[in-house]
Amino acid sequence: MKAEIIAVGSELLLGQITNTNAAFISARLAEVGIDVYYQTVVGDNPNRLTEAITIAQNRADLIIFSGGLGPTKDDLTKETIANILGTELESDLAALSSIEAYFNRTGRTMTENNKKQALILTGSTVLTNNYGMAPGMAIEKNGIRYVLLPGPPHEMEPMFEKEAIPYLLGTIGKREVIVSRELKFYGIGEAELEYRVQSILEKQTNPTVAPLASPDSVILRLTAKAESTEAAHKLIAPVEAKIRSLVGQFIFGTDDDTLSSKAAELLKGNKLTIAAAESLTAGLFMAELANEPGISSSLKGGMVVYDETTKMEHLDIPDSLLKEYGVVSSRCAAALAQNVKRKFGSDIGVGLTGAAGPDPHDGKPVGIVWIGIAFLDDQVKTFKLDLSGSRNANRKRAAKFALYYLIKEMKGQNNEN
Ligand code: ATP
Ligand code: MG
Repeated sequence: MKAEIIAVGSELLLGQITNTNAAFISARLAEVGIDVYYQTVVGDNPNRLTEAITIAQNRADLIIFSGGLGPTKDDLTKETIANILGTELESDLAALSSIEAYFNRTGRTMTENNKKQALILTGSTVLTNNYGMAPGMAIEKNGIRYVLLPGPPHEMEPMFEKEAIPYLLGTIGKREVIVSRELKFYGIGEAELEYRVQSILEKQTNPTVAPLASPDSVILRLTAKAESTEAAHKLIAPVEAKIRSLVGQFIFGTDDDTLSSKAAELLKGNKLTIAAAESLTAGLFMAELANEPGISSSLKGGMVVYDETTKMEHLDIPDSLLKEYGVVSSRCAAALAQNVKRKFGSDIGVGLTGAAGPDPHDGKPVGIVWIGIAFLDDQVKTFKLDLSGSRNANRKRAAKFALYYLIKEMKGQNNEN
């Protein structure tokens, strides 16, 4: 099967948005063994879209569209395809009632053009949209399959995964299950991770192992094809074990885990409470934890102790400590962690101090951060970061690193100091 992706949208041509949909669809098709020969981008213009489809019909037997399924005038993908295929558009009852339900629920009034979103090509298979209003659809005509997907990635990606892939595998008679597992890393760059697991990346075909970068972590996605979910998991397990033996110390979680969700899960699971004293991050660490529902049973509170006087007056950091070691120091981070733990009566205390930039702070170069983590039995560990980003990137990364070290400590597998 030769596939072509047609991304529809004038914003793509103007460079206002990047065509991440084509990249996503291509990557997933490659994983299931469908070759993509062409990617096309065309504006919201029926004549040029018609031209693009005509060209694609001559060189592909699967054409996947992204965008232009919405309610507005410039959304014309369905209409143009209906025109070319000589097919009618009809209202899909299930889609229409879910659109109506959405408007009832939100108390907004539905306008006539919203009904347009429920229109599907007669004879097509509906691809349910669980994250938006416009359904996707798939139709076969004269040996060519057409798959229409919405533009917004948060609608398109789950629809593609859950609806379009099974449809495609079904029509080409492959009875395969595809299972993906993500291993999430922190504290290691993408390049170093790839280097360390190079031998696995090169050799693996089932499961495939693909590195993905996300703003918060580096991910390895293992994707296996097999006859059943169970069999796919059996293929993944030994490869995961091999990866863990090489770089397991940087893995903080899997699949949907984030640093904050994993930290919250471990705090709650171990019935531990926590408090934080934040200098350079000024509350970012606690705000990360507060993203997680149910954190109130673990997060007692904390303090933003930004200047030196505040550190001394409100958290009893001795003047002598600051004079001898400086405010950006292991000693100061440790004292912040221990004192905030005592003050709030928590099981764990976290202290963050550092030079976020742009100027050096207290004689320490920009990017130097100390994180202190104090535990129940009054032991305290400190961790040094040497960050190289802008001021606010450094502040955010310091908060994330604090979560990462906290997770490692709670898992009890940390050897650094
Ligand atoms: P809507 O109902 O939101 O109008 P739609 O299916 O009509 O959805 P478009 O109007 O084409 O889709 O695009 C909506 C938004 O989806 C765009 O503003 C953009 O943010 C995103 N988007 C569209 N196409 C792509 C693409 N190829 N890659 C990444 N994002 C895209
Ligand atoms: Mg639109």
